[in-house]
Amino acid sequence: MLADETTDSIPPERFVVEVFSELDQTTVQRRWREVNVILRLSMLGGMQIQLEATLNMLLDFASEIAFFEKSLVYFWEEDSDQVRLRLAGGMERDATEPYVRGNIFNFWATRYGRPLLVTLGHNLQADATLEGIGAKSALIVPLVVSNKVIGSMQLFATEMDAFTREDAQLFWMLTLVAENQLTRDYENEGLIRFAFTDFLTGLKTRGYFEQQLDLEIKRAERKQTPIALLMLDIDHFKSLNDNFGHHVGDQVLRDVSAVLMKDLREVDTAARYGGEEFVIVLPETNIASAIQVANRIRRGVEQAKFFAGSPRQVEHLTISIGVAIFDQDAQTKRELIESADAALYAAKSKGRNQVVAFSTLNARTREVS
Ligand code: GH3
Ligand code: MG
Ligand code: MG
Repeated sequence: MLADETTDSIPPERFVVEVFSELDQTTVQRRWREVNVILRLSMLGGMQIQLEATLNMLLDFASEIAFFEKSLVYFWEEDSDQVRLRLAGGMERDATEPYVRGNIFNFWATRYGRPLLVTLGHNLQADATLEGIGAKSALIVPLVVSNKVIGSMQLFATEMDAFTREDAQLFWMLTLVAENQLTRDYENEGLIRFAFTDFLTGLKTRGYFEQQLDLEIKRAERKQTPIALLMLDIDHFKSLNDNFGHHVGDQVLRDVSAVLMKDLREVDTAARYGGEEFVIVLPETNIASAIQVANRIRRGVEQAKFFAGSPRQVEHLTISIGVAIFDQDAQTKRELIESADAALYAAKSKGRNQVVAFSTLNARTREVS
């Protein structure tokens, strides 16, 4: 049932506050402390900081303007092409779980591009969210980048009507002042992503992989879960280059990368480790599943047709894969990479186009590699 269809549910437009791009005399006189908070924020405009830090700072400033017990901050995420919860204040992690990919208030903030004052008991959809969060009133402020609503700052209070129209007006000024800073940080986030992408294949870079593996290892230690590391190398790639030239080799590298990325989970990381060598990190994956994934990739490459310069010239390729598991085969990041590499080396010696697990190598082979 749509909220608007019921008699006890008012349309969301009614929550929208009419705001102006300047403050009137009475507001400035009465709320001069809060006005100074906004001025302080404007002075920070030139700082180069990360988006998450700016959002945190905005929340800090917000708490000097109005009293609230809980807060949610949403911001667009370019990578996943959707809005994502970036900060949650005064709430347990479990409580925020249903709201990670947005809520009705963020939707309204985007739709109306204005602050909203919401109280319990007027709209079914609003009530459901307020009750889920454990609040009786909310002030929703859109966050703007290049004149476009790209997220929202949501403040919640356990009192009815905790926020006023004047608060909404002050927060609107805060949003306008924050726009420059947010625009720059948002672009920065894009640049950082760009710097971690391998230009040829679109996979992650080796630098990104090293950082990510560090993070995953910390997480695995905390949660007592395994991590699988796959190391892959194209078989006899040199001859393809020799036969058709580097240019064709480059194109085939791109196509092989596309095969690798297919069917990976969002949490998995595929990176180009060097020339025609790749690594794939599979969090929370044991040896049996890792071997399954590796074999699926190996078969995928084996069955793919690669164009060597023209659609008429079809080439077939194979890859060899070494698999190692943290913390079964290795206790550190270095050891894990070395173990996967040793397993890859064994796959090559055994005749290529196969998957070898480090745990199946005998002590002698391990020493040699
Ligand atoms: P195998 O791995 O099966 O032992 O044989 P291989 O011929 O693949 O040998 P190796 O892995 O040692 O050689 C890697 C070759 O890959 C060397 C180079 O010709 C080619 N290569 C590495 N990086 C690139 C690249 O960025 N572009 C192109 N086109 N070729 C590359
Ligand atoms: Mg090779
Ligand atoms: Mg190689």
